[in-house]
Amino acid sequence: MQAITNAAILQLLRELIRIPSVNPSLAPEEGHNEVEIATFIVDWLQAHHVPAKLEYVEPNRPNVIAEIGAGDGPTLCLCAHLDTVGTKGMEIAPFEPKVEGNRVYGRGSCDMKAGVAAILCTAATLAAEGTHKGKLKLALVCDEEYASIGADHYVQHHKADACILTEPSDLKLVVKHKGFLWGKVTTVGRSAHGSRWDLGESAISTMGKVLVRLDDLDLNILRNRIEDLVGPASMHVSLVNGGVGVSTYAPDCEIHLERRTLPSENMDEITLELEKAIHEVAQNAQIDWYFSRPPFSCDPKESIVQHVIKSCESTLRLQPQLIGWGVWTDAAIFSAANIPTVNIGPTGFGLHEAVEWVDFDSVINNTNILINAAKTYLQEA
Ligand SMILES: [Zn+2]
Repeated sequence: MQAITNAAILQLLRELIRIPSVNPSLAPEEGHNEVEIATFIVDWLQAHHVPAKLEYVEPNRPNVIAEIGAGDGPTLCLCAHLDTVGTKGMEIAPFEPKVEGNRVYGRGSCDMKAGVAAILCTAATLAAEGTHKGKLKLALVCDEEYASIGADHYVQHHKADACILTEPSDLKLVVKHKGFLWGKVTTVGRSAHGSRWDLGESAISTMGKVLVRLDDLDLNILRNRIEDLVGPASMHVSLVNGGVGVSTYAPDCEIHLERRTLPSENMDEITLELEKAIHEVAQNAQIDWYFSRPPFSCDPKESIVQHVIKSCESTLRLQPQLIGWGVWTDAAIFSAANIPTVNIGPTGFGLHEAVEWVDFDSVINNTNILINAAKTYLQEA
């Protein structure tokens, strides 16, 4: 079925791990970026008869894009990210891939060079067979671990009828995940000498009321707002800063909060609910919503979901479990561009941790699932 042997897939995965691609925005001190791995991938794809090229998003931050087939069938995009998190605190050699039994160790082995390898081998297999109707596109993107500039750039410049991502998911089918919203809240007091209770007004006391009110909103309202597969909405205050000295009434106080959002929620209602709660106890608090990412969901009736389910049934001889995630991924960017998207990736351990490995059998299965799903999806008239 694969045009590539399992030994060649392992070889490819090891070569991908050996090329550091730590996200330069996350860990600038490590001095890496995605250029070297992207160039290696373009060469590998070309050698396997898959036309591919670099598409720069910013200087030194390329995506690899590739495309096979010119038919008038549907277009399927396979997407994975090229960057990894940093290596600080790792207890294994991050870029010397070690194979032990069925495990392949290294930074990015699981998140997500295994997913990259599965996609590359799928493209090579379809190129070798050359019989499908539609188009297969690859989006191997930079910067998922920081600001997702790669995926944002890709959907602005390319179209597809469906997309499969291969973030590690234990070969379960991810059809939903949460989004998030970041905000800053500022309260203002009146600065005065610590003895001047008659003049001073503490911005920190006011913020204390905000904290209690937000905690109440989180525990008593949001946690009861539960959605199938992804669980409850939630929020937390993650940073706090205020005051100027131990003997001065605090002139200002600032918190940052993060709200995790559900696919069924509406962003206007989310911000309104938070603003109302904050202003109930601190009328003059200033609120700045400075960053958000949408949640993601895909109707299980979508054609791409059905093709992946059938492919899992024929490859694994079992029906894949449909799951949701709390974490955010690039799937939301494709979904927001109206491209029905699902995620199915390999099994592994230690994402962003001191010891990271991927289960190699699951990489082979992942590859075969992608090959079958792509072939049947692209044959659709
Ligand atoms: Zn990842």
